[in-house]
Parts: sequence; C-alpha cells; structure tokens
Amino acid sequence: MAAISIAGLTHSFDGVPVLRGVDLDVASGRLVALLGPSGSGKTTLLRLICGFDRAEQGSIRVGSTIVSAPGVHLPPDRRQIGYVPQEGGLFPHLSVADNIVFGLPRAQRKARHRVSELLDMVGLPASFATRAPQQLSGGQQQRVALARALAPSPALVLLDEPFSALDTALRQETRQAVADALAASGATALLVTHDQSEALSMGSQVAVMWHGRLIQVDTPETLYRTPVTSALARFVGEAV
Ligand code: ADP
Repeated sequence: MAAISIAGLTHSFDGVPVLRGVDLDVASGRLVALLGPSGSGKTTLLRLICGFDRAEQGSIRVGSTIVSAPGVHLPPDRRQIGYVPQEGGLFPHLSVADNIVFGLPRAQRKARHRVSELLDMVGLPASFATRAPQQLSGGQQQRVALARALAPSPALVLLDEPFSALDTALRQETRQAVADALAASGATALLVTHDQSEALSMGSQVAVMWHGRLIQVDTPETLYRTPVTSALARFVGEAV
C-alpha cells in the first residue's frame, strides 16, 4: 500500500483553479521530489496534505488514514506528518534536544537516547543536544529540523524547499545528510523544490507540477531523457 495516496485533488483561489485534479501515490520508504516552476501549485498541494487548507474536491490518504475527503478534514496534528519548513523554524529559546522532542507525547520527552539516535541519523554529534539553535550553522539547523520531524516516526515527512536559504557549499553537504537520514530512517518523504538539479539528484522519483497538474511522475533518468513536453524539456535542461 502506498504511504500517501492523493486522488482527484482540486483547489482554487477566488474562483481561479490552482490545482486541477492531482493524483499521486508514493510508495513506502521513497523520497519523491515535487518539482515545478514558481506558481505551479506546489505550496498549495503541500498545505492541503498538511491540513492547513481544506481541499475542494478529491481525497488524501496518509498511511491507512483518510485525512481529507468530502466531509473529512483531519486537523494537521492528527495526520502523522512530519514537516520541515524552508528555514527550520526551530524554537530559539529551547535547546536542540528540547526542539527534537517537542512534538512527542509528554511521557516520551525524557527519552534522551532517542535524541542521540536522531542526531546520529542526521549526521550530528550527540554533544549538540545541549546547544542552542543559534549556535548551529543554517545547514545544521535544517538537520535538527529533520530530526524533530522524524522523532514521532511519522507516516510521511514533507520538506518545503529545505535548502533554499543555504549557500551553495552548505547546500550540497546538507542535501546529502538529509538524503542519508531519510534513507536510514526508512521514512517516506515528499520534497518540494523549484531546483531541477536538486530534484534530479535527490528524488528516487520526480513528480512535476505544471499549472496545477502533475504532468509527469518518473525516475530522474526517464524524466531527463524523455520529458513529456518541450517546455518541461527546457525547464529540466536548465539543471545542467
Ligand atoms: P508554488 O508553490 O509552486 O510557487 P503556489 O501553490 O504558491 O505555487 O501558488 C499557485 C498559484 O496560486 C499562484 O498563482 C498563486 O499566486 C496562487 N495562490 C497561492 N496562494 C494563494 C492565496 N492564499 N490566495 C490567492 N492566490 C493564491
């Protein structure tokens, strides 16, 4: 069974269609890159999956739970989704460890071995647990944000342009660390990006959003060799 299954999703703003019937299945343990130009509808799709907005039509299943369907709208905190925003969103007044356990049930927040395990998964030393977020680089903060998202073992992790605020050198290193951590955790993940090379290098599959539709969902190789439209060919070609 797919870890997330989206069927016939539509959404509009002020009568203007923004999502025009989106279908997507992501198999368990996969990292799928959601790639598309600015304004194509990626953020809107992400917000509907998280539950920040309510879909007009269609359905979303996460794990075995229907989280969105006609007459069904589960609140974000009941969707078993981990979220990594563009710029970590770590709480500056909490230590790294307290940030990581923040979303866990109270009884589990004392489990410091889980903090060490998660820090190790994202490639950071256990000694970082007591640091304040401001003592870390932007890339390290994003890794902590991923550790926090993974802490409750969510059915799905959503990453929203997580490297866009990093400089080029840090971006490469952080991409690798994030890809390794997701693979080690076995998490299913959807990574939103407008960066073609990021999508092609990180996704086991790339789903291309274009004017509110997913026009191609393929492996990076197939997408690169046989893009379905000439406009997409030009867009993907900009990656090299
Ligand atoms: P992307 O994330 O791919 O850049 P978005 O999902 O942010 O695309 O936006 C898709 C379209 O929806 C754009 O035309 C954008 O202007 C419009 N849009 C997004 N959010 C709103 C909103 N809250 N109100 C009105 N229009 C919006």
